[in-house]
Amino acid sequence: MCRCARIFARGGYGNDSRCEESHRSDYEIDKRIKHEDTKALTAALFAFVTLSNSQGFAYDNASVFTPGLLGAEILHEEKQDQILITNVHVFDGKNKERIMDANVLIEGTLIKEVSKKPIKAVNATVIDGGGRTLMPGMIDGHAHVMINDDFGPVERDMDLTDISYNAVIVMERFLMDGFTAVRDMGGPAFGLARAINSGRVVGPRLYPSGGFISQTSGHGDFRDRADPGFSIHDAGDLSNFERMGIGNVVDGVPEALKATRLNLRNGATQIKIMGGGGGSSRFDPIDTTQFSKDEICAIVEAAKDWGTYVAAHTFTDRAVDRLLDCGVKTFEHSFFISEETMQRIAKEGGYVVPQMWGISPDLARNPLMPKAKIPMVKALGEKFKDFGRNLLKNNVKVVFASDYVGKFEDAERARRYELWWRTQTFDSNFEVLKQLTSTAGEMLAMSGPRNPYSEGKLGVIEPGAYADLLLVDGNPLEDISVIGGTDKWFDAEPEWKPIETIRLIMLSGAIYKNTL
Ligand SMILES: [Zn+2]
Repeated sequence: MCRCARIFARGGYGNDSRCEESHRSDYEIDKRIKHEDTKALTAALFAFVTLSNSQGFAYDNASVFTPGLLGAEILHEEKQDQILITNVHVFDGKNKERIMDANVLIEGTLIKEVSKKPIKAVNATVIDGGGRTLMPGMIDGHAHVMINDDFGPVERDMDLTDISYNAVIVMERFLMDGFTAVRDMGGPAFGLARAINSGRVVGPRLYPSGGFISQTSGHGDFRDRADPGFSIHDAGDLSNFERMGIGNVVDGVPEALKATRLNLRNGATQIKIMGGGGGSSRFDPIDTTQFSKDEICAIVEAAKDWGTYVAAHTFTDRAVDRLLDCGVKTFEHSFFISEETMQRIAKEGGYVVPQMWGISPDLARNPLMPKAKIPMVKALGEKFKDFGRNLLKNNVKVVFASDYVGKFEDAERARRYELWWRTQTFDSNFEVLKQLTSTAGEMLAMSGPRNPYSEGKLGVIEPGAYADLLLVDGNPLEDISVIGGTDKWFDAEPEWKPIETIRLIMLSGAIYKNTL
């Protein structure tokens, strides 16, 4: 089978005529997917079922057909196939200077060669990059793909099927926005990861944490005053968040260990804990420190026993110090830490993973923010507005975070806004691109033996790295809008639309979008 893949989103993307000849029956199905916008999903599912029946659906064979909700499809190909991308300027994820007029050879799922000289590969499918920029697929270091509606509906009205069906759309749009890997920081995403890995759902590589782990009245305790379980007299009851596996409320070392080990048992690639108060929750003031040292150290030890690490939601020096004492590796948000604490994180090899919109003046317009917390959050945002610059000054490794959460149309707009706003707070497109690629890839590799994608590096363009690539019009080092960055947030178009300047999206050597 030839290496070919096509994407037919609404309005239609490009395709490869060679594939049409060699896969006529597939192409007939493609046409059914393409013909009407409103029937795209039904048709895609119909095609899926047809192929499942006629070919004997097998996840690991060479011709798995995977329709997405937008009509994205991929024909998985034999490993030895090669693709040669010529005539591109390569941003490799690490260096500020692009490798001009380069050629990149992909073999199977990995990058085989990057060269300024012509590469000889007689059987390769050649893609002329037309002088565009080739960059690594982007990585989101902190998202909640299963918390895909506002907290109210998720807590009161939804069950696992609601959030799971939403997640299928969420994941496909992540990929179509150019994200080829996502670290999920809390939510029941294990089944979703399995569905992606087996080709049943279209989406980026997913690193699930399982339900985040929080203490009573911590950042993950979503019970309302009227709920059973709010009082100590009936503490056995769960919030819907907990019931669905979005979070776990635990107290004491045995409960903390049990929640950690259950997540690991279910396939967590890292563990997420709530190490302090938050902005979007009602009963844990943002200045609070959460979990005792005993509890945190026990969780870190249990994660280490599985070869992986712990990520912590945190904002303050006091919380970060305690977390560092126990060996926590990634510090989410962390806006209010001092330079001294930043230096300690840098010295101990930690990462800070902040969604910078959290200290944007536009934050007050976020519908997820409880009204009562807005003045305080605004004041803190103003006070710590140099946070990004201070992280760089103190050599802290920083990873991109959208903190994707809530109604997915809102979260998607926040993600694109984050790309732009970050370039303002770190004063450099290059810095943000590094956070989106090589530094994020390095962080994901800390999952060690729990990393499901360990054949190659992520976030870089070099021999041996995964072929997770974007081909974009223009130069993102100078113009962040070419990868979707925008200064519009809640005033942006509510409807998700493809980013036209991202012309080609490749994940693991397979093409999911091609409008060349
Ligand atoms: Zn989060």
